[in-house]
Amino acid sequence: MKTHALKTFLLSHNLFFLLKLFLIVLSQSANALTVVSGARVTTKHNIMKAVFDVSKPVQYNYFQLHNPPRLVIDVYHATFKNKVRFQGNNIVKKIRIGKQANNTLRLVFDLTQQKSVKLFKLKPKGKYEHRLLVKISKLDKKYPIKKHITKTTKTQKIKSILVKEINNSKFRDIIIAIDAGHGGNDTGAIGPSGSTEKDISLSIAKKLAASINKEVGMKAILIRKNDTLIPLARRFLMAEKAKADLFVSIHTNANKNSQVNGLSIYVLRNRSARSKSNLYASVKSANSVLFAVKKTAKLHKKNLMRAGFMVLKSRKVPSMLIETAYISNPSDEKKLKNKEQQQKLANAIKHGIKSYFYQTPPTGSWIAQQLSTKKHKVKRGDTLSSIAQTYHVSLRAIKRLNNKRSSRIYVGEVLALPL
Ligand SMILES: [Zn+2]
Repeated sequence: MKTHALKTFLLSHNLFFLLKLFLIVLSQSANALTVVSGARVTTKHNIMKAVFDVSKPVQYNYFQLHNPPRLVIDVYHATFKNKVRFQGNNIVKKIRIGKQANNTLRLVFDLTQQKSVKLFKLKPKGKYEHRLLVKISKLDKKYPIKKHITKTTKTQKIKSILVKEINNSKFRDIIIAIDAGHGGNDTGAIGPSGSTEKDISLSIAKKLAASINKEVGMKAILIRKNDTLIPLARRFLMAEKAKADLFVSIHTNANKNSQVNGLSIYVLRNRSARSKSNLYASVKSANSVLFAVKKTAKLHKKNLMRAGFMVLKSRKVPSMLIETAYISNPSDEKKLKNKEQQQKLANAIKHGIKSYFYQTPPTGSWIAQQLSTKKHKVKRGDTLSSIAQTYHVSLRAIKRLNNKRSSRIYVGEVLALPL
């Protein structure tokens, strides 16, 4: 062997050695965390199955929380890849994923109500690798969830699991009472094509309630659910009885002049109000909604309107009345009747309500708790999208929660994080 050849030999061996070392390091880092991805969601006969692909058998713990009902699964020593594409259904509203300390991956299922939950570790089969199956079904009354039940099964497929029930009732939902104007014999205003205010306001109210109920930490109640007439004073008393945090009455406006159009929001006149602090909260929440609907609806007047409406006279519950548009205006009426437009408007109103409560969360509410516990202080080099990535939340959600129009952040700024 010539010197030159020897050198090459040694070099290539060294290279080979280095490469081997590199591969070991690589495989060790791959060993370090379980990669969770997915999920594939199927629903049948009120049973929902969510299957997560996992790079190896997972270690986990899970428990349910109340108010709002949630299933929390902590997967230890794990990281998440991909996104969860899940629209929500009658069992689970939303699936959220976040990082906890010590490489714990937290999967949160926002449930429509308390459910029976089972988790299974599935071994590789066919085209599938290891998987984690989450099965959520109707609560079995015969076997209610008890504190610290350890369930073990004969097969190794189902690992012993710890079920914890934590009474989390101190973090409550924010309650929004939605009042569809008129009803029964009282049709309200009638549009040129014959549509009635009572029907349109009920339809928008229902869409608004559904949109609110999709939000974690918020719950809507409908003052009237059908075509009945409820006396005005009783409407706000019902909201008080339900301990509502906000009362929103939905109407459509009318004018002799069919040219008049647009949306307006009313709060009580100063002299009609029975409580100053409640009127102050009414103005603040109504302004938040007015700001949010600006993009979706043409405004009749750019400022809040004042009136002495009986339905707004609660002493306790901040209240607003939304005249969604002029039913007497043919083009407004057309929009009011359109289900898609109704949905857009409902979403915009919800948005305004939500941002009001994220700015002034009532003490003891789930939203207040979220805002107080999940925060990120911006460090040098952080970008909004790097923060979003770190916490596995969407950029949009962070922006919305912090009322940000742009992605601009500054060092030292404290951001609230969704989850
Ligand atoms: Zn009305």
